[in-house]
Amino acid sequence: MNASANDTQFARARQSIPGGVNSPVRAFGSVGGTPRFMVSAQGAYVTDVEGHRYADLVNSWGPAILGHAHPAVVAAVQEAAARGLSFGASTPGETELAELVRGRVNNHGREGLGSGGPGGVGLGGGVRSDGAVGLPKETRNPVEKIRLVSTGTEATMTAIRLARGFTGRELLIKFAGHYHGHSDALLAEAGSGLATLAMPGSAGVTAATAAQTLVLPYNDLDAVRLAFEEHGHNVAAIIVEAAAANMGVVAPARGFNRALSQIAHEFGALLIIDEVLTGFRVGPAGWWGLESSLVVPDGGGWEPDLITYGKVIGGGLPLAALGGRADVMDFLAPLGPVYQAGTLSGNPVAVAAGIATLRAADRSVYDRLDATADTIASEVSAALSTEGVEHVVQRAGNLFSFAFTAEPPRTYDQVRAQQAFRYPPFFHAMLDAGVSLPPSVFEAWFVSAAHNGESLGQIVAALPAAAKAAAAA
Ligand code: PMP
Repeated sequence: MNASANDTQFARARQSIPGGVNSPVRAFGSVGGTPRFMVSAQGAYVTDVEGHRYADLVNSWGPAILGHAHPAVVAAVQEAAARGLSFGASTPGETELAELVRGRVNNHGREGLGSGGPGGVGLGGGVRSDGAVGLPKETRNPVEKIRLVSTGTEATMTAIRLARGFTGRELLIKFAGHYHGHSDALLAEAGSGLATLAMPGSAGVTAATAAQTLVLPYNDLDAVRLAFEEHGHNVAAIIVEAAAANMGVVAPARGFNRALSQIAHEFGALLIIDEVLTGFRVGPAGWWGLESSLVVPDGGGWEPDLITYGKVIGGGLPLAALGGRADVMDFLAPLGPVYQAGTLSGNPVAVAAGIATLRAADRSVYDRLDATADTIASEVSAALSTEGVEHVVQRAGNLFSFAFTAEPPRTYDQVRAQQAFRYPPFFHAMLDAGVSLPPSVFEAWFVSAAHNGESLGQIVAALPAAAKAAAAA
């Protein structure tokens, strides 16, 4: 495929923008070649400066669950923009979005969304929820109050400050391979672009800050218990991706998140569930909704203290949020002593996009996302198997990725031990055939409800050559 206009754009961008990109994950850092410069996106497709159309499995890294430029979302944005771009004052839409989120999460995503359960959910190493029976124990609404911010980074950064302010403690526990945005405290052994670029952390983070973050192996409750035995009196919070999806997809072991909440609470610490990526993508009430709808052997729900959202909640515009226990959330200014603010927080145009997206994302959308994920995951797996490429499919609801390894990885070390060199030729073969995949083996694939026979056909048709390329690597 002739990439000359993309090459020109990239060369020009590099003159003015570090690395030519405004977010490192866009730079093709581990797959090589020229990033495509996009000019438009519609439904299941993105189009680059050369007019090439790609069936899109990046979907803006998550937000575009309805597909690109969904008419209802575009109309809501146009209508809001015509009323003014930003007021620096409260708007009714902010409360409406807060109520929408609270309603969804409190009802575990069931209310008004049809009778279907969380079908096709790969929870904890392939255990499926389909066979679950009974009702979860009543739990407090995990989102009693919510504050809107502009990025996932702000949401997690604020959640941590809030947990520290509320508990009067300093230490934070995170898990290796989990990505929570780029605030100082959270860059240690983080996934996403840092995994892609094999960076253990970031220069510019002081040793004092790094020392306040304990990094533990994922899915390892013994390590968590040990850390609490040693430091429990000074741990403000555990932060965990609801289901890890920034080191490729690695679902939590069944009961892992619930055990984290129990251990944290036993020691007076808070549990922050990061649903920036999973929230309103894997189900109507995010990962929490899927897990809390399950019946677990020793009964009962579990209660995160704070949850962060991003991506889908803004429908493609800069909007994110943190929510949780009212007594904790009320520690935020102006009621409480923990400061947080934003000129564009709750921006009316972004809020309109978020409301329109959540309103359109009904049960049928989630059923469709699950079915599309099933189709693509099994077709990719079949193509790789045909070529004898050792791999496993990693699933967490409708999120999935592939690891070139014999056993499903459960930790960052295991993820990194895979034959990652097989991904770049696979990626480029797909791109050449008009399919846009995440440019790193350490990222999840994102489906949208706009995928149909045409785009799925294009993706499936591209697979044999890509699998051959992976085999030949
Ligand atoms: N948390 C998670 C789980 C994420 O996946 C991301 C972004 N990929 C973030 C936080 C940071 O969000 P943002 O890029 O909007 O700052």
